[in-house]
Amino acid sequence: MHVIDYEGIMKELRDLGATRVLIQSPEGLRKEAEALADFLEARGLEVILQGNVNYGACDPADHEAKLLGCDALVHLGHSKIPMALEVPTIFVPAFAEVDVVEALRKNMRDIRKLGERIGLVTTVQHVNSIERAISFLEGEGLRVIVGRGDSRVAWPGQVLGCNFSAARVDADGMLFVGSGYFHPVGLAITVKKPVLAVNPYSGDSFWVSEEAERLVRRRWAQIALAMDARRFGVITSSKKGQLRLAEARRVAELLRKNGREAKLIVMNTVSYPELEGFDFDAYVVVACPRIAIDDAENWRKPVLTPPEVELMLGLRDEYGFDEIQGVRRELQNR
Ligand code: SF4
Repeated sequence: MHVIDYEGIMKELRDLGATRVLIQSPEGLRKEAEALADFLEARGLEVILQGNVNYGACDPADHEAKLLGCDALVHLGHSKIPMALEVPTIFVPAFAEVDVVEALRKNMRDIRKLGERIGLVTTVQHVNSIERAISFLEGEGLRVIVGRGDSRVAWPGQVLGCNFSAARVDADGMLFVGSGYFHPVGLAITVKKPVLAVNPYSGDSFWVSEEAERLVRRRWAQIALAMDARRFGVITSSKKGQLRLAEARRVAELLRKNGREAKLIVMNTVSYPELEGFDFDAYVVVACPRIAIDDAENWRKPVLTPPEVELMLGLRDEYGFDEIQGVRRELQNR
């Protein structure tokens, strides 16, 4: 179950003078999108539901909203990423209705092993619980540090699969509150500190270092496969928050300078089947960092991230996670 502020959305739409609205939602919030449509229609608005699955605020349907003559886009499930958008867009995070403190209480023995100064991060579903989590942990005698992050994240302590700027804090170890593996593993590789992941839904926890080592080993296998490749396709995405053309050009130039051929490719959704027919030996994805890492098994050619290209070319020594940086904020850690 998720908490969505329907009245707040209606108020913002009224302030915008909107009469026709497009609602965009991730797979897990389809019912909420329908319920929001009912709510808005009952108040006289015309609503269109965007049917494609959405994975992040990096992919707003603002262009489509404009084509449809909508006055506004309501983007459900993610916090705002600053971008130039074609219609007024309301980013509406959906907060999980789950007791974060209960899961922390259950895992206190492991949490204490992180050290005296604990960095706390979470995903957007739980950012509304971060103050309660801090109060609880401080009540247990721990020093809790929450980073503000750069402009790509909207909330203190928030991490994305492509941005761990809020985790760059002076802490002994990091506590991740949330579900899944990708975020805590990316976090562990980025901060190079012990990371404990506490799942507020199940109440379980795990130490992330083994998972992180396994992932780095798998990625080195991809890098080894790409070593002999001559022709690289360097792919960026036309999704507004994943369009990294300057970085794609930098990577292509790096490859050329080091004796490889490279061509730039743009796709909207980056997936291997659509690339069949091209004659590249390997690919670099300069879009969402999750694509190369989560989906590599479905690619019939080696697929790398930009830091992995640098490793392959011998230009860096240590494995680095790919991130999309926002504008840096003055450090305002708690
Ligand atoms: S680029 Fe990827 S990780 Fe970043 S917000 Fe978009 S979908 Fe999430």
